[in-house]
Amino acid sequence: MLESTHHRKQTKSTILKIKIMKSQLQIILVSLLPLGVFNLCAQVNDKPMKMQSAMTELWEPVPEIVTPGQADITGSTTAPSDAIVLFDGKNLAAWENKDGKAAEWTVHDDVFTVNKGKGDIFTKQSFEDFQLHIEWSVPEGVTGEGQRRGNSGIFLQNVYEVQVVDSYENLTYVNGQAGSVYKQSPPLKNAMRPPGGWNVFDIIYTAPRFKENGTLILPAYVTVIHNGVVIQNHTQITGHTPNTGLPKYKPHGPGPIRLQDHNDPSEAISFRNIWIREM
Ligand code: MG
Repeated sequence: MLESTHHRKQTKSTILKIKIMKSQLQIILVSLLPLGVFNLCAQVNDKPMKMQSAMTELWEPVPEIVTPGQADITGSTTAPSDAIVLFDGKNLAAWENKDGKAAEWTVHDDVFTVNKGKGDIFTKQSFEDFQLHIEWSVPEGVTGEGQRRGNSGIFLQNVYEVQVVDSYENLTYVNGQAGSVYKQSPPLKNAMRPPGGWNVFDIIYTAPRFKENGTLILPAYVTVIHNGVVIQNHTQITGHTPNTGLPKYKPHGPGPIRLQDHNDPSEAISFRNIWIREM
């Protein structure tokens, strides 16, 4: 009997608790109601503020003033005021050979000519992202065929070759034509001037990024304008540019511009007016 009384008391107390909980729930719900109404009102009133033209104006940082170079009708452009001049017709002071000694290519008539057998030359300075202006000429009456005619090259950061070769009426594999990323990306067009003329390359390059452990975060990209014609449009570089083998990335930091002394027997090509802007 005692147990049963106890049980009834427990049941009553449970019912009471449930009733209290119900009434508390009601209070909570009732108290939330105005909030909900308020939120609804806020949503109606919180329409995005009306856009005004000034809201999208940026005033800082102010771009640095650069005095642009002057272009002639061939597309040869003198260095802008913030460029590093790598060759202005006078000497190869900005260049060295692979041993860090004086570059032994031949300076004459405001240009320099590859001195075959003396090896590649390198800028003394190293670079990361840049805009490079460089002009080159295959001599009139050049002999040889395919890759063995006016071959040189511009190695970006000493690793990635933008091909220099006589592509004027000269058959070769397309990813080896002038302005190709060598053995990777053919040029979009062939904008080559005939031998004796000057070719202008404007090269915009973004260096690859590596993690500290050496893995690639971002590949390199290159845009090449050849005599005013875009021939590489933000082309992804897939690794180094060997003659034999597949492109691979190896981690590296800033690197020089390297010009190639190609071991073909054709008449040597010349360069002039070289400048670079770091970005
Ligand atoms: Mg080459």
